[in-house]
Formats: sequence, C-alpha cells, structure tokens
Amino acid sequence: MDKMDVVIVGAGLAGLSCAYILADHGLQVIVVERGDFAGSKNVTGGRLYLKPIKDLAGDMLEGAPFERKVVRERWSLLGASNSLSIDHTSDKFRNDGHSYTVLRARLDRWLSDRIMTKGVFVIPKYRVDDLLWENGSVAGIKAGIEEIPAHVVVACDGVLSFMAQKAGLKPALSPKACAVGMKEVLALPEEKINDRFNVNTGEGTAHLFLGDVTKGMFGGGFLYTNKDTISLGIVVGINAMMDRKPPIDAPALLDTFKERYEMRTILDGAKIMEYSAHVIPEAGYAGVGKLCGNGILVAGDAAGFALNMGITVRGMEFAVASGICAAEAIIKAKEAGSYTESTLSSYVERLKETFVLKDLEATKNMPGYLENESLFSYYPQTFPDLLEKLMWFDENPKERLGKTVWDGLKTSGMLSMKRLLELYRVKNI
Ligand SMILES: Cc1cc2nc3c(=O)[nH]c(=O)nc-3n(C[C@H](O)[C@H](O)[C@H](O)COP(=O)(O)OP(=O)(O)OC[C@H]3O[C@@H](n4cnc5c(N)ncnc54)[C@H](O)[C@@H]3O)c2cc1C
Repeated sequence: MDKMDVVIVGAGLAGLSCAYILADHGLQVIVVERGDFAGSKNVTGGRLYLKPIKDLAGDMLEGAPFERKVVRERWSLLGASNSLSIDHTSDKFRNDGHSYTVLRARLDRWLSDRIMTKGVFVIPKYRVDDLLWENGSVAGIKAGIEEIPAHVVVACDGVLSFMAQKAGLKPALSPKACAVGMKEVLALPEEKINDRFNVNTGEGTAHLFLGDVTKGMFGGGFLYTNKDTISLGIVVGINAMMDRKPPIDAPALLDTFKERYEMRTILDGAKIMEYSAHVIPEAGYAGVGKLCGNGILVAGDAAGFALNMGITVRGMEFAVASGICAAEAIIKAKEAGSYTESTLSSYVERLKETFVLKDLEATKNMPGYLENESLFSYYPQTFPDLLEKLMWFDENPKERLGKTVWDGLKTSGMLSMKRLLELYRVKNI
C-alpha cells in the first residue's frame, strides 16, 4: 500500500475534527475506529461549549445535530435526607447559544458522514493493535495482519491511549489520574422535559449534583436535557472508590441517585434507552503527556486534554480544538516535507496560543483542590442542614434568624480555621 499522508486512530471528536481540516487541505487521510460506527463507543455527559472553538472550527459544526441550547444552570448540594439547589438563567445564555447538549452517537456519526463526503475514509470495526516504525520514526499502524503505512499517525484513541503509550509519549494512567463515569440516556417526551425543567422548546438545562450522590466520594452527578431524552449520570474518582470502606458498587450509586426524592418527580415515566460507562482523565495540566514525536501527534483525551472545574466538565471542545491544531501542524509539516518531532512541534506552540493549554495551565491547581473530601461530604450536608433549620416553623417560638444562622455556622464548624483556610485557598484554583 502507498504511504498515506495521515492515519488517525479513533473517530471521536478529536480524530474527526483533525480529519475535517486535513481533508479541506487535500491531504490523503484514513480514520480508523474500533466501534461499529463513529460515536458508538463515545461517552460524554453531554454539554459542548461552542464559544471557545468558534473561530477554530469555522463551518465544521454548521448544521450539527445539537440537542438543546443550555439556558438554565442548576447545582444541587445533596445531604443524606435534604438538599439545597441554585438555579440560574440569564438573557445572555438565552440569546447567545454558548453551550449545547449533545448525544455523541448522533453528533460523531453526523461529523463522520460529513468528512466522508470530503473524500476521507472512516473505517469502522477496525481496532489498531500497534504502530509501524521506520528508522526511529512512527510510520503507520498495524491491525492484525494488516498494515497502513503513513507519514503521520494521530493518536485520538481516547483516555487510555495505547498508541501514545506505544510511542513512548505517555505512561499508563494511574487510578489517581482518572475517574469513572456511568451514564443512562432516558426517554421522556419533549413537552414533559419543557415543563419539568421550565424551558421552552429547543432550550435545555444542565444540572450538577454534589454530595450524597457519590456518598461523599470525589465526583458528582450530572443531568442534561436533550430534545426528547435525558442524559443522567455519575462520575466518581477511581482512587476514592478503591479506598472506600466498606466498598461500594459503582453502578448501584446511579440507582440510589435515581431513587432520591429530588429525582423521582423529574424522572417519572422516563424509560432507559442506553447505558454506558467510561473513564475520564482528571489530572488536568499535570496529566498532559508529551504531545508529539517523530511521525506522531496525540490529541483529545489521549493527550489528557480534559478539565474538571468542579462546576462543569470540559473535554469535548478540547478534543475538537486539539484535533484541529494537530491538522494545522501536519499541513505545515507536509509543506516542509518533514515529519520529525521538531517539525511537528508547531502543534504544541499552536496549542499554547489557544484555550487548550492556556485554560489547563491556568487551572493547574484545580485537581489538588478537588482532593479535599469536604467538598463532597461536609459542605453538601452542612448547607442543606442550615437551611432546614432556618425554614422550620413549629409550635415553639421561632428563634431570631440571625441567631439560627450564627449558631448553625458555629456548631457545624463552618467558622473554624480549617474552613477559613479552605475558603482562602479558593483564590488559587
Ligand atoms: C461520564 C462523562 C461525562 C463527561 N461530560 C462531559 C461534558 O459534559 N462536556 C465535555 O465537554 N466533556 C465531557 N466529558 C469528556 C468528553 O466526553 C471527552 O473529553 C471527549 O469525549 C474526548 O473526545 P476524544 O475524541 O478525545 O476521545 P473519545 O471520544 O474517547 O474517542 C476515542 C475513539 O478512539 C477509538 N479507539 C480507541 N482505541 C482504538 C484503537 N486501538 N483502534 C481504533 N479505534 C480506537 C474509540 O472507540 C473512540 O471512538 C465527559 C466524559 C465522561 C466519560
């Protein structure tokens, strides 16, 4: 087989975005994917932020099958038997689509069809086993007895990235550096979603949960409204699960979450359509490995480009942006007629100019801050308890509100040095 310009391993958002730009510049590209079709193996919570990638992506996502424009943000602190929620909406979010809910089985498949019309081969059910090497440089891929030689391989094979490991660009992931996510897609009629989440047709809600949802372990719950389905799931730190005594069964957490009073009404009548589980990189900037070598680039989750900011999880726009930056570097390398690490390193320089490495570097203290288990146990219990006391009226005379608040803060330890230091540390994240 003649050498292709590029072989991309993985038809997720990183791989497909890379292929889209390369095809626009006339390069010969093959994308290989182990799943039955692009999107079949890809799991996300489900919100894609469009603003960060607007300029980079150009017309790539025009007409994409987004589910709903997110106009309502909710966060809930879940205590053992109570909860406290914040609900935010604004004209800014309603008028200016800044993020959308998505289902990957639809979005990735749509993008894959779009790039195939540009002459790119997307080959499903094709699991890459190894890399081909030539004079110390990656020179293609191997799948069983088949080989596809190429000037450049782009490893977009997701969080575990055996390709990046085989190229010596990153070590195997440690349990501390990742979390596991479990997700259900539940069918619910469009009008019921509109009513239950107080949104208009086409508008959606993103809802995050902390506390009892993970039984106090690192992680949280998420709910995103799609057109006529709901994406509901839990993310839990793998280390936290391993250290937990007594041990707890991860899938059972999702069942317990759904049985909570807060969830029963909004999920009433919803039917399970899909179940999936997936690993998420959680190390932030510290988890970013080497991004290129001779004849190889790494993009998306494979490179560690995902950011858990506590208030939201971002990975998809990092996958899109890094796939595009990888394509730009390959186009330059082709012009220069060289695919060495040094030529391909323009990828890293480009990433540094974008939000990908800027945001990851700016928030490099976040994973350390999120190691504080109080965020998942103490606070989600303390605030709902305080509100419960404040809002309780019975036959006894009501105490002064100020006294209830003050006593509540004092007895819960909220005014202790430990808590004040935690508050002070917020400025560093
Ligand atoms: C539960 C959960 C919730 C999340 N929530 C959000 C969210 O709300 N917003 C957000 O922006 N991000 C979220 N993320 C993160 C986001 O989903 C990822 O960052 C994003 O999917 C990464 O895209 P990718 O293309 O790099 O990798 P992937 O989508 O994982 O694609 C990798 C592809 O490579 C293929 N592959 C792997 N190995 C091989 C091989 N050897 N041969 C051939 N093909 C191979 C896989 O089948 C897969 O299709 C979430 C993640 C999870 C798990």
